[in-house]
Amino acid sequence: MAPQPVLLRNVAVFDDVARTFRRGLSVFCREGRIDRILAEPLSDVPAGALVIDGQGRFLVPGLIDCHVHLTSGGDPNELAAIRTEPLAIRAWKAERNAAATVRAGVTTVRDLGAADHLNIHLARAVDAGLLEGPRILAAGYGVTMTGGHGHGFIAVEADGPDDVRKKVREQLRAGAAAIKLFASGGVMTPGVDPRSPSFTLEELRAGVEEAHKAFRVVGAHAQATDGIKNAILAGVDSIEHGVWLDEEAVAMMVERGTYLVATLTAPWQIAHRGVEAGVPAYMVEKGWQVLESHEQSFRAAVRAGVRIAMGTDQGTPFNRPGENAQELLRMARLGLSNAAALLSATAWAADLLRLADRTGRIREGLDADLLLLDRDPLVDLAALAEPDAIRVILARGTIIRAALPLTTPEPEAP
Ligand SMILES: [Zn+2]
Repeated sequence: MAPQPVLLRNVAVFDDVARTFRRGLSVFCREGRIDRILAEPLSDVPAGALVIDGQGRFLVPGLIDCHVHLTSGGDPNELAAIRTEPLAIRAWKAERNAAATVRAGVTTVRDLGAADHLNIHLARAVDAGLLEGPRILAAGYGVTMTGGHGHGFIAVEADGPDDVRKKVREQLRAGAAAIKLFASGGVMTPGVDPRSPSFTLEELRAGVEEAHKAFRVVGAHAQATDGIKNAILAGVDSIEHGVWLDEEAVAMMVERGTYLVATLTAPWQIAHRGVEAGVPAYMVEKGWQVLESHEQSFRAAVRAGVRIAMGTDQGTPFNRPGENAQELLRMARLGLSNAAALLSATAWAADLLRLADRTGRIREGLDADLLLLDRDPLVDLAALAEPDAIRVILARGTIIRAALPLTTPEPEAP
């Protein structure tokens, strides 16, 4: 069923090209899409349309988080739960996480790895209107080398180019809308060193080729310098984490247009919450090991002009669904301008995810994924991170939140 038409009157609309707000506009949404953007209030509001007077508030596209795990809520040792909890319990938790995500204004996510293809099933349930949630591009399982990062919980193992191909094809067969490959070790898997590269260049090339043949975007978990370079050379669309970027890696990313999805929140929360909060000791140790280089690498990437797309790795310890926008504040603290931070979570993220014809910008014909903010995020980025400052949330035209009066206009006298 198509959502009810909505007219947002007297709003300042974010212009992603000029990087400013255009004031005094009206945006009319119909059948889930942005139907018209007009300089004056519509005189012919169609019968049945809901009208919201924005009183000059700030309209931005719904946020896009390019790296989440909706099957995890961010409890400090949820890894163990993935192995022991019944699938139904994990599914109900995922439903709760999806709702919390969209209610915070994140209207699109890419889910980069879940056991039992639960992220793919969750995406289908949201698309079918069974649950409230963001648009989900789900990778199914990630693909990792035998014993590599992610094995035993969010990744299946493969060795050799042919086996990588087969495992990627299996994700595609299951309905994956994105592909995740592991190019190095990481923080969350015991006994795996984040400084160690994993898949060979040939293995990564095979995986990327299969994904791109099927028009799917590829994200590579890559923390070690050599793993990052292998992934870039193999042609992945985004480097996830990018902890140890050297000058050469940064130059390669700029030259090839590879995106960085830094997920600064993930190791920060693991390291700073620590063992006292229940995070396993091996994770805390590795969190501190990566933290400083991670932040330096992000600064270097921003300075060099690497394409940035926002991703949190939501689901890692204390990286909670609905708190995704904290990543914007972290990126801004490390040198990204407020406008670039907003773009990294909207227009640029949509470009990475090949969704620019659906979402990420406020344009006629795109889906009505919209947030109405109390404050100007170009001045005060925290306006996106405080749930109360987000007055209206539309996801594909459906009203998720409306903390302003909704009216229906009187029919005009003949
Ligand atoms: Zn992840």
